[in-house]
Amino acid sequence: MSTVLVIGAGGVSSVCVHKMAMNADIFGDIHLASRTKSKCDNIAASVKERTGQDVATYEIDAEEVPAMVNLIRKVGPSLVVNLALPYQDLPIMDACLEAGVSYLDTANYEPKDEARFEYHWQWAYHDRFKDAGLMALLGSGFDPGVTSVFTMWLKKHKLKSIRQLDILDCNGGDHGQAFATNFNPEINIREVTAPARHWENGEFVETPAMGKKVEFDFEAVGPKNMYMMYHEELESLAKFNPEMERARFWMTFGDEYIKHLTVLQNVGMTRIDPVKYQGKEIIPLQFLAAVLPKPESLGETTKGNTNIGVIATGEALDGSGEKTFYINNICSHEAAYEETGNQAVSYTTGVPAMIGSAMMLTSKWTGEGVFNMEEMDPDPFMDMLNAHGLPWQVKELDGPVGF
Ligand code: NDP
Repeated sequence: MSTVLVIGAGGVSSVCVHKMAMNADIFGDIHLASRTKSKCDNIAASVKERTGQDVATYEIDAEEVPAMVNLIRKVGPSLVVNLALPYQDLPIMDACLEAGVSYLDTANYEPKDEARFEYHWQWAYHDRFKDAGLMALLGSGFDPGVTSVFTMWLKKHKLKSIRQLDILDCNGGDHGQAFATNFNPEINIREVTAPARHWENGEFVETPAMGKKVEFDFEAVGPKNMYMMYHEELESLAKFNPEMERARFWMTFGDEYIKHLTVLQNVGMTRIDPVKYQGKEIIPLQFLAAVLPKPESLGETTKGNTNIGVIATGEALDGSGEKTFYINNICSHEAAYEETGNQAVSYTTGVPAMIGSAMMLTSKWTGEGVFNMEEMDPDPFMDMLNAHGLPWQVKELDGPVGF
């Protein structure tokens, strides 16, 4: 039984903490800290009601490293699980190093003034974690996270090498709102409005945001338009699978979402540079995020399924020539809400954050330094996905994708 300190109290954290409490044999003592303590208290109350487990709560600004160090020392956890925002990754890693504790997150660091999703800031901490004998595991959500594990499972059990990889992320859920994002609106819109980038012949190729659209028929959802965009796991997948000729990431968006986003962009509401308003500097995107529905408020109304997976083509392990496999998970918004009070986008991220934490705390995944999911054995993680609400399936396709 381990002590764990979770930072952040949004939708992802809520799912993760509920799932930790449901696995009290691993997570015996759960502590939750965030900027707004009342949100931690709400999660703790729901966890108590659903599982009978206690969660201790605290207020913290995770960007204040000395305060974080004090909190870590007070709690004495074996692991700090960062489920706040990507901006807090580096200060929380600094605090972990100073207090001597291992670290896990679900999204790579980005600077506030530039929408750049890159691992180099966090990879630069490798030697310091290694020298301290600590482990930092990056990107233990669904994408990044499960998509990387899916890919490495295919490479362990089906394919000797991967020639082409496509990650397909479909949220077929309907939340009943004209426009809302299923996870933090600021991070979501920064991601979607950034230029698309995909891996091709040894380098990243940049194309205009939302410039490439393909219709795909998703099981348990139906046909949806998906758009090619950049996603951070492409960087780690390319690093750990250098043989890949091409790797792309696709996400589905409905016409209503695209229409609203286009207008918001055209009128400047998605800008991330400060503008003067009534004598004060404000960031338009942060103001927009403040007026949009909170992701954690969408759980009750969201109906339908998510379907997220990986299609990989490469040389079969059994010597039977080139093969294509599709591996994916289908998750029901209603079932996720029933179990944890949160919709499936939070669920599909919070469960892998719990599983990654379990991997570290039970020493199934070990190491000293900073690691991506691709560097770990996929099997025990895949087993836990099946056992803890995110079952996966794999099938062979007739041939490589035709898009
Ligand atoms: P939310 O916005 O719902 O929650 C973020 C939480 O972090 C809030 O409770 C917020 O506090 C807290 N927070 C923000 N700044 C600070 C700070 N300085 N100190 C302490 N706490 C802070 O986001 P989500 O739950 O939707 O997402 C959480 C993380 O998961 C994000 O990093 C997101 O990018 C990542 N994610 C990863 C996915 C994956 O598949 N890998 C998919 C979806 C999300 P307050 O309540 O006061 O605002």
